Amino acid sequence: MPWTDRQQALLQAMGLRVWAEPEHQPAPAVEAEAPPLPTAPQAAPASAPRSAPVRPLARPPALAPVTQTPAPSLAPAVAVHTATRADLASLDWPGLRSAVAGCQACGLCSSRTQTVFGVGHTQARWMVVGEAPGENEDLQGEPFVGAAGQLLDRMLAALQLSRAADGPPERSVYIANTLKCRPPRNRNPSAEELAQCEPFLVRQIELLQPRIILAMGRFAVQTLLRSDEPIGRLRGRVHHYQGVPLVVTYHPAYLLRSLPEKAKAWEDLCLAAETAEASAA
Ligand code: SF4
Repeated sequence: MPWTDRQQALLQAMGLRVWAEPEHQPAPAVEAEAPPLPTAPQAAPASAPRSAPVRPLARPPALAPVTQTPAPSLAPAVAVHTATRADLASLDWPGLRSAVAGCQACGLCSSRTQTVFGVGHTQARWMVVGEAPGENEDLQGEPFVGAAGQLLDRMLAALQLSRAADGPPERSVYIANTLKCRPPRNRNPSAEELAQCEPFLVRQIELLQPRIILAMGRFAVQTLLRSDEPIGRLRGRVHHYQGVPLVVTYHPAYLLRSLPEKAKAWEDLCLAAETAEASAA
């Protein structure tokens, strides 16, 4: 079957040449599955069986309504040591950002330049969840900058999506990392660090109430799906996080090092787009 215009645009944005082939030519053979990523520091059991249906596209129930009443930031003593989901439940976007900025709940606070809260439209339909800030993110205070960020932006642009904070919500993406502070020398985050930081991501999702979550990379997947299965086994079907459809794909930084996986990431993005459209219907 020939690629649709949107599929071709996405392939082009990702640097793939598949769409340049004649229309009748079959899609390129899928490369051998990438080897499993290194063992995670800790993970809970998978949330869905491998044989789960590919597209449970029914619109999920909405998350609890979010109050528009400005809420105060956490008191310093709370923000520093014991930010739990209950602590954060009343915070709006500014309050949550302030709580993250003041957080010292794990040791990463001592080596960060600044926290990396998130970027994008706070009413976006799409949410991209990455892993941890790298050096550039730590310096700029924004997730997904540098080459990986540029690749992500091109992938999103192929779907007419943008991280711009002032665009139409239906064409906007909010981007956040699982971890808000950079691990020194870009080491893998520990299970404890991921657990300490998770309530911030949970609150971001509650506030945004996205129609689709795109989880990029194994630490995002481990946090949201409680699964340590390789990305290759989790991608290609729709999962759910608290009722929100969730699609798993590779991190753009990995795609830069493993070009054959770009075709799979393209498939994942198309699945996410179809799922988001179905949930909006
Ligand atoms: S990584 Fe998260 S939990 Fe740790 S200090 Fe930074 S904001 Fe706090």
